[in-house]
Amino acid sequence: MRCICCRSPVEEEKVCCPRCGFPLLGGDRENRQKIAGDYRKKLLGGTFLSVRQYYYGYDGNGDLQELKSEYVRAACAGELPPEGILWLDCAFAPLASGRDVELDIQIQNGSRSHSARLLVAAGKLDRMTRLGIYSDEGLRIRFAVGNGTEAVLSDSVPLLINQN
Ligand SMILES: [Zn+2]
Repeated sequence: MRCICCRSPVEEEKVCCPRCGFPLLGGDRENRQKIAGDYRKKLLGGTFLSVRQYYYGYDGNGDLQELKSEYVRAACAGELPPEGILWLDCAFAPLASGRDVELDIQIQNGSRSHSARLLVAAGKLDRMTRLGIYSDEGLRIRFAVGNGTEAVLSDSVPLLINQN
């Protein structure tokens, strides 16, 4: 069986999910799902996901150069759906076609943060215009690059900073 909160596999005799700590309740499924949703929101409500954005401009010689880069907040982990992709509605520039995409991401909770460089093998997609976050099992996420019909996912990273 799987935890209704984070979808990790759980042995039947356990009282709580070892991954997210959600109690393995009885009762009707709809009610359990609602409780699990509230639990996730509370557990992940202080965790934020950011993606590094690069800004380019022309120097005095007319050459294009990187001016600065900074992490731009993409989503609060507590607002992610329990499964599937949340497509981001934000001002990420369309990504160049025919190339794999490298994303520098950061997961932050209070003063603690974890950053990672994720490769998305999106080179075979026709047009990549959208960036999303896929809710993986066990309170993990993957970043998604898509073109409206197809999506390619990155490796998975944990949402909870002290977990592997
Ligand atoms: Zn769980």
